[in-house]
Amino acid sequence: MDGPQRSTGPGASDCRSVTPHAVMRFADWTLSTDKQGSGPVYEAECTTCGESSDATESKDEPELWCLRHAGALGHTGFRGITTAFFRAALLNRRSGGADS
Ligand SMILES: [Zn+2]
Repeated sequence: MDGPQRSTGPGASDCRSVTPHAVMRFADWTLSTDKQGSGPVYEAECTTCGESSDATESKDEPELWCLRHAGALGHTGFRGITTAFFRAALLNRRSGGADS
């Protein structure tokens, strides 16, 4: 049961603002959630037969895929896969200022 692959248009990012952004620092580099590219990508995989849903930016579609897959094949175990993107950036080092 493969529906048409939905392209990510406006309206698909309504839950983007609740994404917590953790910032890690190492030396002069900082790593944060990549806001330039796409948001996290969600996917589901059946642990019985290994079939997987399409990867989408919405959690709803992989979850619906699980329910459809369970209804069609009776498989009940699934693995949820979330792919998130990070971006490393070089910090601007200010000379002469102790800002800690
Ligand atoms: Zn299956």
